[in-house]
Amino acid sequence: MRHAPPCHGHEPDGSQIMTYDQDSDRPRKIVHVDMDAFYASVEQRDNPELRGLPVAVGSPAARGVVAAASYEARAFGVHSAMPSVTAQRKCPDLIFVRPRFDVYKAVSLQIRAIFAEYTPMIEPLSLDEAYLDVTENLKSMEIATEIAEEIRAKIKATTGLTASAGISYNKFLAKMASDQKKPDGQFVITPKHGPAFVEQLPVKKFHGVGPATTEKMHRLGIETGADLKEQTLEFLIQHFGKSGPYFYGIARGIDNRQVKPDRVRKSVGAEDTFSQDVHSYDPAREGVQPLIEKVWGYCEANEIGAKTVTLKVKYADFSQITRSKTVPAAMPAIADLEDVIGLLLAPLFPPRKGIRLLGVSLSSLEQRAPVAEPQLRLAF
Ligand SMILES: [Mg+2]
Repeated sequence: MRHAPPCHGHEPDGSQIMTYDQDSDRPRKIVHVDMDAFYASVEQRDNPELRGLPVAVGSPAARGVVAAASYEARAFGVHSAMPSVTAQRKCPDLIFVRPRFDVYKAVSLQIRAIFAEYTPMIEPLSLDEAYLDVTENLKSMEIATEIAEEIRAKIKATTGLTASAGISYNKFLAKMASDQKKPDGQFVITPKHGPAFVEQLPVKKFHGVGPATTEKMHRLGIETGADLKEQTLEFLIQHFGKSGPYFYGIARGIDNRQVKPDRVRKSVGAEDTFSQDVHSYDPAREGVQPLIEKVWGYCEANEIGAKTVTLKVKYADFSQITRSKTVPAAMPAIADLEDVIGLLLAPLFPPRKGIRLLGVSLSSLEQRAPVAEPQLRLAF
């Protein structure tokens, strides 16, 4: 299965796409904070004997997948979402550690509390990643770069872990910037430099451009941001549908998507195109697992509960079906979501034709009861 970009309903390839609209542009200061090799770093923090060694969080079992890899493991080409068997082959000394999601969740709450000292405009993407709109911030600080520095220093002091940050005038560029100086670094992209930064960037690195879209762009002769910028809006809509306006905008360093701190989102979804059409249940179930983890992680990070699960299936001929199930109360654990997906997926096999894409979305969302402050938790 290919790695698709995250798609949380509000992301470029999601359903709630922002249209390209220059009029709604206003100067903003966005910080994207991203913990470095988060799960693996937590394990190395808590188990000193793992420090300096190649660590993969996940199950070494035949069907297992790497959830996170330490930087030592990444040097061998190990990365998240890689089958554990492949990871072990690339790095024979790789040490597998079982994930401890309760610990990751507690750390996530600690970093969230630090963000909240600066702005209420926080949009978490997962347990370890968030956009902050600091245009107007609670400390009345002028310089977003200084805010990012302070936040990273506080994260280090509070959790013992490092974070990287990207600072820019929109979400797309802030996200791209946070990758530039990883680990434990930060990078700013100013309005003056944004367009040139995008022009030199290969489209495969773009947030919102997954492997399937990358391939399609390459076939159309679009390799870099500069190539993308040469295309007309009509051309991009013709070839990329509702993502066309988004691509048109980001090719110019323009992205008007707002940081959404609200928890009134109607649905949360992720989808992924298989590298080869799938005809049997096992690879389909395997392929859907990262999507389950992605949407569940998003709900966890945002204290959202969900009652309705929708499975989307797109076939090789591009025909599409959806199957939904609503449970009486918000699902308490990821295992419940996995069960529902199994129930929705199994009856579709054997399929009439190959399956090209699977999607998972959650709706009938509700806010979970507020959790205890992290400091309180530690005091106990
Ligand atoms: Mg991260």
